[in-house]
Amino acid sequence: MALFVPSPAGAWGERTHEIINRRSIEFLPEPARSEWAAMALPLGAHASDADHRKSRVPGERPRHFIDIDVYDEHPFDDVPRDLEELVRKRGREEVDQWGTVPWAIEECWRMLVLSLERGDWSSAGAWGADLGHYVADSHQPLHCTVNYDGQNTGNDGVHLRFEVHMMNRHFDETLIDRTAPLPDPGGDVVEFCFGWIAAAYPGLHPILRADTEAREADSGHGDAYYQEMWSQTRDLATSQVTAAARDLAALYLAAWEEAGSPPGPEIAPPFSALPPEVLDPPQTRSGTAHRGAWLTAAAILVSALVLGSR
Ligand SMILES: [Zn+2]
Repeated sequence: MALFVPSPAGAWGERTHEIINRRSIEFLPEPARSEWAAMALPLGAHASDADHRKSRVPGERPRHFIDIDVYDEHPFDDVPRDLEELVRKRGREEVDQWGTVPWAIEECWRMLVLSLERGDWSSAGAWGADLGHYVADSHQPLHCTVNYDGQNTGNDGVHLRFEVHMMNRHFDETLIDRTAPLPDPGGDVVEFCFGWIAAAYPGLHPILRADTEAREADSGHGDAYYQEMWSQTRDLATSQVTAAARDLAALYLAAWEEAGSPPGPEIAPPFSALPPEVLDPPQTRSGTAHRGAWLTAAAILVSALVLGSR
């Protein structure tokens, strides 16, 4: 029954996504932490919006992963950081097939900056929640490989077992290490993302090995399976969730500072993303003759986003 086959690109379950987005605020230094404090709960509540719109928004699906090992060997230094260059080399179809999460992160970050420059925390919240979603996805080693579901190594189904069922059973958010120091994105969001992907990738083999041994203990994937899986991957899963929250905080902080450190809301507004066309209108459309046309288009896009995905 196709309806009940889970999407292997589903990513951390909703609970883990919620934890990563919400707890990332605790990693911020003052005064940023106080300015963002009201945003923590709604950022968590909207952490899986990007997954929810996958089935209805064309082009959403590849934004959640990159099967980076089809392009190069670890640590992936030869994969183009420029999306247009990668598309020129491999073609659009192939690039979409292998996933585009680093550039989804870059777009969300830029839109977050532009929203914050307007002091628009409604739009900043929506882009920031999506940013957190993609950051979390790309810290999951099974989101960074063509063997994303263990299908090439006899570990079929490991994706969902590891990131959703095991995490929901065993992960406790108090395991997150809040003392982890914030990295500096260094002004290049895509390079920052490739850095944490290279750091996450070696976790792939321990996950597959743990699955193989856990299935030997309990081939029916019952309690004994998850107990064994957790005992072998607890440290890895915890450090990846911590790294996701920490790296997300570094991106929130960099965006907020880039936008001039605007004051945060006392109560978070409902989230509604202004589309890129509004936040960053093309220069060629700035003339009076075109303004009406693009404002209309922008209004349609805003309603599509509000109605369709938020
Ligand atoms: Zn996802």
